Amino acid sequence: MRAAAIRVRGQVQGVGFRPFVWRLAQRHAICGRVSNDAEGVRIFAQGDELEQFVEALGREAPPLARVETVEVVDADIEPGLDTFAIVATAAGSARTGVTPDAKICDACRDEIRDASARRHRYAFTNCTHCGPRFSIIEKVPYDRVSTTMSRFAMCEACRAEYGDPADRRFHAQPIACPDCGPRLWLEVEGEEVRGDPIDAAVCLLRTGAIVAAKALGGFHLVCDAANETAVSLLRERKRRPAKPFAVMAADIAMIERYSPVAEPEAALLGSSAAPVVLLAADRQPLAPSVAPGQWALGWMLPPTPLHQLLLETFDGPLIMTSGNLSGEPQVVGNDEARLKLSSYVDAFLMHDRDIARRLDDSVSRMVLGRQRVQRRARGYAPSTISLPDGFAARPAVAAYGGHLKSAICLTRDGEALLSHHLGDLDDLLTTEEFVKADRDYASLFEHTPDVIACDLHPDYFSTRHAETRADASGVPLVRVQHHHAHIAAVMAENGWDIGDGRVIGVALDGLGLGTDGTVWGGEFLLCDYQSFTRLAHLAPAPLLGGTMAQREPWRNLLAQLDRCGFGAEADAILAGKPLGPLRAAAARGVNNPMSTSAGRLFDAVASALGCAPDRQSFEGEAAMRLESLARQELERPASGYPFACNGMILDPAPMWRELLDDRRRGRTVGVMAARFHLGLAEAVAALAEKFASEHGAGAIALSGGCFQNATLLELTLARLANVRVLTHSTTPPNDGSLALGQAAVAAVTLRN
Ligand code: ZN
Ligand code: ZN
Ligand code: FE
Repeated sequence: MRAAAIRVRGQVQGVGFRPFVWRLAQRHAICGRVSNDAEGVRIFAQGDELEQFVEALGREAPPLARVETVEVVDADIEPGLDTFAIVATAAGSARTGVTPDAKICDACRDEIRDASARRHRYAFTNCTHCGPRFSIIEKVPYDRVSTTMSRFAMCEACRAEYGDPADRRFHAQPIACPDCGPRLWLEVEGEEVRGDPIDAAVCLLRTGAIVAAKALGGFHLVCDAANETAVSLLRERKRRPAKPFAVMAADIAMIERYSPVAEPEAALLGSSAAPVVLLAADRQPLAPSVAPGQWALGWMLPPTPLHQLLLETFDGPLIMTSGNLSGEPQVVGNDEARLKLSSYVDAFLMHDRDIARRLDDSVSRMVLGRQRVQRRARGYAPSTISLPDGFAARPAVAAYGGHLKSAICLTRDGEALLSHHLGDLDDLLTTEEFVKADRDYASLFEHTPDVIACDLHPDYFSTRHAETRADASGVPLVRVQHHHAHIAAVMAENGWDIGDGRVIGVALDGLGLGTDGTVWGGEFLLCDYQSFTRLAHLAPAPLLGGTMAQREPWRNLLAQLDRCGFGAEADAILAGKPLGPLRAAAARGVNNPMSTSAGRLFDAVASALGCAPDRQSFEGEAAMRLESLARQELERPASGYPFACNGMILDPAPMWRELLDDRRRGRTVGVMAARFHLGLAEAVAALAEKFASEHGAGAIALSGGCFQNATLLELTLARLANVRVLTHSTTPPNDGSLALGQAAVAAVTLRN
C-alpha cells in the first residue's frame, strides 16, 4: 500500500471534479479525501491501486474540466483510514470556480426526451456536466446561494441528488426539476397562454410569428428561418436591413440540409460552448433574407434544454438573433423585454430565472483545421488564457481595449482573463454595461491592477475610463498603440515568450490611431512586447468626410482612384455622388484625415465592383460581400492583381489599373474580387517574408479585423509556407482581443 499527496491544477473547480475523484476512489478502493483550495484541487489518497487512480485523474476527467498538471508527492500512510471523503470548501479559500456556461449534455438531452423521466420536457434540466454557470453567478464562491437560483428551494428529490456523490447532479448548483425549479410560460399581449408553452410557441412560429425567447445570456428574437415573409418582417421591425442572422438547428443532420458540415465543424458546433459556427451556404437555401449576399451562414446547436425542446418540436431551423433595440445591448430582464421588445414580437417565451450577466452568442468558424473565434462571449468567458512563462512574474494588469467590439482583459500570475464581448461603445447603455462589467470582473476575480492599459486614442470611451480608474487609484497608465496591441495579442495567444525576440507583425485592420497622429490600419511592424518599429504600410489615402468614410464605402473608392490618378474613372463609376464638394474639401485639407487602413481598401474595391451598399448598415458589410463574391471564383486559377512596393509604401496603384481594365473588359465581379484577394495576400506575404529574413525575425504574426476574412487568411497562409506564422484561434483577430495585447505590452513595459 502507498499514500500520496496529489495536486491537480487547471479548470477543476465548479466542474464536478471532486465527485469524479470520489467515484474514481470507489473504483480503485482508495481511501483519503479531496478538497478545493486556492490552487485547484488537493487530494490525499492511499491504497494499493494508487498508480491506476492517479493515471485516471487526467485521462477520465469530467467533460468541463481542463487538467493542466497533476503533481504527486509520496506521503506517510495514515493508519486506520477507511473511507474517501469530499471535504467542503472553506469560504474564500477557493480561487474562483467560475466557469463558462455549458451546452446541454447528452444525458440531460436523453432525459428530457424520456416520457417516464422526472424531467421529461423540463426546460431547465442541467447537471454537473452542463448548464448555466457564468450567466447566473452573482458573487463568489460559486454556490447556489450566490446564483440567481437562490430563490428556488430544492425539493426532496433534487436535494437527494445534490447530496449523492454517485449522482450526476452531485453539487450541481443550478439543479432543478418541474416541482421546484424555474417555470416557463408563453405570454401574448400580457396574458399567459394556457397549455404547454413550447407547443404554443411552436404553433405561433409555424404561422410566421416572431417570438422573443429568454435564453442563457439574454433574449433572442425567434422566427422560422425558411419563411421569407417572417424573416423579412423581422428585418423590418428590427430595422436591421442586412446584417446576417444566426440560425439554430436541432442537430447536425438538420444543418446538413443547408450547409455541408465537416467533422471538425461538427465538433465545434457540439462543443460545450455551442458557438455560432460559420458554414458555407451552398445546399438547399433558407429564406433569402437570412444572410443576404453572404457565402456563409451562422449555425448553432441548442445550448439549453429550452432551445432543444423548441427546435425538436418545431422540426426546422429557427432564426436566433439577439433581442435588442438597434445599437443597444441585448435585453435580459422580463420587464425590460416587455417594455422594449413588444413592438417587435407577437409573443414572449419567458421564465422566472434571472440572468445575472448579459452574454451574447459566441461566433466562430474553422479555417485551415483550426477554430477561429470571431466573437468571444457565451460559453467561452470567463475561461482564462495561459500566458507564456515569462509573464508569471509580471505585474497584474487591467486593460480596457478599443472602441468597437470592446472587451476588458485582466492579467495575474501568468493568466489572462479576457472578458466576454461587451459591444460597441457608441451607445450610452453599452458604455454603462462596460463600466459595470469592469466592476463585475474585478470583484468576481478579486483583481486589483498594478498597471492599467488603454489605446492611444484619447476619445475612446475605454481610454477615458482607464484614465479615470488610473487617476482614482494612483496606478500607472500605459497607452498602447492600436496595431502594436493587435500583434501583441496574437503573440500572447500563441505562447510567444518575452525572451523569444521580435516578430514581423502584419496588422490588416479598420482604423487605429498611429504614433504620428494619422490613422493606421495596413501595417508591417517589427516588434516584441516592449516596442515596435513601423517597417511599412499601405499607401495613405484620405478618409473623405472623416467618420462618414467608415459608413460609406464609395468615399474610399473616390479617395483611392483620385490618389492613383484615375479621377476620370471615379467620375464615371461614382456618377451622381457629390464628388465636387468632397474633392474641394480634400484639396483644402478639411475633415479628411489620412489613413493607411486595409479595411477601407476593401470598402473601395467592393464599391468599384458594385457590391457595396451606399451606406453600410454594419461594420464590414461591404468587405463581407466582397469576400463572398471572391469565394465563388477561387476554384478557378486566376492571377492576383499586382501591388507595388516602394520603400515603406505598399502601393495599390497597379492593382487599381488592372482592376479598371478588367472592369472595362467586362470580367465578372467574382473574378475581380478573387484577383484582389489573391493579389493582396501575395503582396502581404512576400513583403512579410522579406522583412522576416532581413531582420531575422522568428515569426510572422497576423492580426487585425481583416483576418476575419477566411479567404484572405487562407490565401496569405498558403503563401507563408516556409516561416513560423502566428494566427488567432481562441481570441478574435478584431478589436475583441485588443485588451489582451494591451495587457501583454503593459505587463512587459512596467516592471514590478
Ligand atoms: Zn447534463
Ligand atoms: Zn426538484
Ligand atoms: Fe483594430
